[in-house]
Amino acid sequence: MSVFSSDSFDNHEQVIFGSDPETGLQAIIAIHSTAFGPGAGGCRMWPYASEQEAITDVLRLSRGMSYKNAMAGLALGGGKSVIIGDAKKDKTPELMRAFGRFVHQAGGRYITAEDVGMSVRDMEEVGTQTPYVAGLDSGETASGDPSPYTAHGVFFGIKAAVKHAFGEDSVKGLRIAVQGLGHVGYNLCRELAADGATLLVADINEENARRAVDEFGATAVDPAVIALAKADIYAPCALGATINDETVDRIPVKIIAGSANNQLATDHHGVRLAERGILYAPDYVINAGGIMNVANEVAKRKVSHEQAWQDVERIYATLTAIFARARETGEPTSAIADEMARQKIAAAKAVKTGKSQAA
Ligand code: NAD
Repeated sequence: MSVFSSDSFDNHEQVIFGSDPETGLQAIIAIHSTAFGPGAGGCRMWPYASEQEAITDVLRLSRGMSYKNAMAGLALGGGKSVIIGDAKKDKTPELMRAFGRFVHQAGGRYITAEDVGMSVRDMEEVGTQTPYVAGLDSGETASGDPSPYTAHGVFFGIKAAVKHAFGEDSVKGLRIAVQGLGHVGYNLCRELAADGATLLVADINEENARRAVDEFGATAVDPAVIALAKADIYAPCALGATINDETVDRIPVKIIAGSANNQLATDHHGVRLAERGILYAPDYVINAGGIMNVANEVAKRKVSHEQAWQDVERIYATLTAIFARARETGEPTSAIADEMARQKIAAAKAVKTGKSQAA
């Protein structure tokens, strides 16, 4: 089991392992950078096949959060946590409270929220043990479920990509393959359908797929092949690394834009997409809507729903700038976003530590 020598280690500031034998909690918090503020990012519960897999995931996800928060212009650093276990079988209120105490031990350097396998209710449980939690339903500045905001940001990101690639202002008439119809995917489908898209959908949970078929007139597709479905746009909204050696040369779309974190199995797959002329919306840029709203809660800012909804639409401009630079330089959009994020973080760190960047 390795952390420092892991390929996914990127000079993370801190990695903390926590366990609680009474509840069966086994969790890891990774804080990638606090240059812009406390490391903020959701908690994922997943039945990882090995501890190494959990470490790799939390290292990659937390770096993604640093990049995401920097690109969204938030006063937050990057962190993430994982709980090893099956959310359907192993999650109990006691386990969530034990996790809350674990988060509290990080002393505010890490702020948690929901991610895959977690709900707002779980975060309320965490909140009984620590103030370092966001995405709550109750409280003066509670921001609630971040997922609709994430979906709204992805919708605007897709619109930015459509404008860049097709010169169109709406998704009307476009075929969009949505993989994963959970908190984000479902809300995204609603906005896409309302704007006139034709939806192909897949979820390993059949009930979720049926709901999208019934409510949005979508066509259900086998989850095993949704990434390769004949469509204009592929929107990965389930888990990461769906753009990999198996799929990268076979995905038949013009645009890839969805909410999943870590969509590219490796950086090389971003290069390959650019070579194939597929416009890729960097995941941590397009999926920042939820954290943009959560940032108000962390800062204890009271912002109306309408204002928060509109703020998320900034993602359109950020992506448009990345796409424009990609067209100018021929570089992959993924590499351009990474470079922009790294520069922002380095500049913030230099200010924080009082060092000039050249030093
Ligand atoms: P969720 O758990 O609510 O939904 C995920 C859905 O994907 C589930 O319905 C699940 O059954 C389905 N799924 C899992 N594996 C699948 C597969 N192989 N094929 C098809 N469907 C599959 O999670 P969510 O909150 O909707 O998040 C979705 C993705 O977006 C995740 O990668 C998450 O990290 C990312 N994300 C979420 C938010 C947010 O605000 N919730 C913010 C940023 C990024």
